[in-house]
Amino acid sequence: MKLKICCVPGCGGNTSKMHYIPKNPQIQQVWLERIGNKKLSQIDVNLLRGYAVCDKHFDAMCKNPSGKLLRYSLPTNNLPAYNIPSDRGNCFAIYRNKVPIRG
Ligand SMILES: [Zn+2]
Repeated sequence: MKLKICCVPGCGGNTSKMHYIPKNPQIQQVWLERIGNKKLSQIDVNLLRGYAVCDKHFDAMCKNPSGKLLRYSLPTNNLPAYNIPSDRGNCFAIYRNKVPIRG
């Protein structure tokens, strides 16, 4: 099996725990901003699903006991374009009436 390489600039991680860029456009937008990889902003949205971020960019609170990402999780750790400490407020997209109001 070919391992994906993390798309965070300068990371190059390719652990067995990779998290694919989500399909939801609002959540995807927050991921892209935080990943800060200029190349990704030029890629067709449908192809973005093939890109992944490695596990070290997600706080422990974003994962279930088996290491899978929880719904609406956002990357917060080890990001060159984002250096705000992880907390409940920035690890998840916040929804109100099923519409994300912020990342
Ligand atoms: Zn990475």
